[in-house]
Amino acid sequence: MPPIDDTSLAVALGANRPSAVGSPRTTLLAVQSRLEALLKAWSDQELVCRWSSLYDTVPVGGPPDQPAYCNAVLLVAGLKAPPSEAAALQLLDALQGLEQQFGRDRSREQRWGPRSLDLDLLFWGELRLEHPRLLLPHPRLHLRTFVLAPLLEAMHGSASR
Ligand code: ATP
Ligand code: CA
Ligand code: CA
Ligand code: CA
Repeated sequence: MPPIDDTSLAVALGANRPSAVGSPRTTLLAVQSRLEALLKAWSDQELVCRWSSLYDTVPVGGPPDQPAYCNAVLLVAGLKAPPSEAAALQLLDALQGLEQQFGRDRSREQRWGPRSLDLDLLFWGELRLEHPRLLLPHPRLHLRTFVLAPLLEAMHGSASR
């Protein structure tokens, strides 16, 4: 794995409702290869992908009594193109398309309510965006153990639970 540097990118995955392929855990396992293919197509290059393990987590925020989440983080290194708003928005479109393919239906959701797949872009190098559709770095990254623990694992290659 190349070192984490100002080209590295990270995506957070979460799910707490079954998708067509199965449980949240089964969904995230199925999403892994799809997400790698998506990133390869988006960047038009081979990438180095490093995955955290899957974490079972207690819901934070949102409606009371929602099901437990499964979370993971993918860290991508070696991107050749410099971070840019246009490319980041294209990636967001692709991530939201993949969410829909796994049954995500935003029109029927409460804020932070149950979902079959959530894909958040955590950061891309030092790119800072306050676009109406895309905030980077993710503004709640530093507040969420369920993101920080898998991110640290993906960075260092060891579990931090
Ligand atoms: P949170 O952002 O607190 O994790 P959420 O993931 O539940 O909440 P969603 O309903 O999935 O929020 O997405 C709402 C909108 O957030 C999306 O339509 C997207 O345009 C926007 N958004 C802003 N910044 C980001 C980001 N860094 N990654 C993904 N979506 C983002
Ligand atoms: Ca989220
Ligand atoms: Ca999201
Ligand atoms: Ca700097």
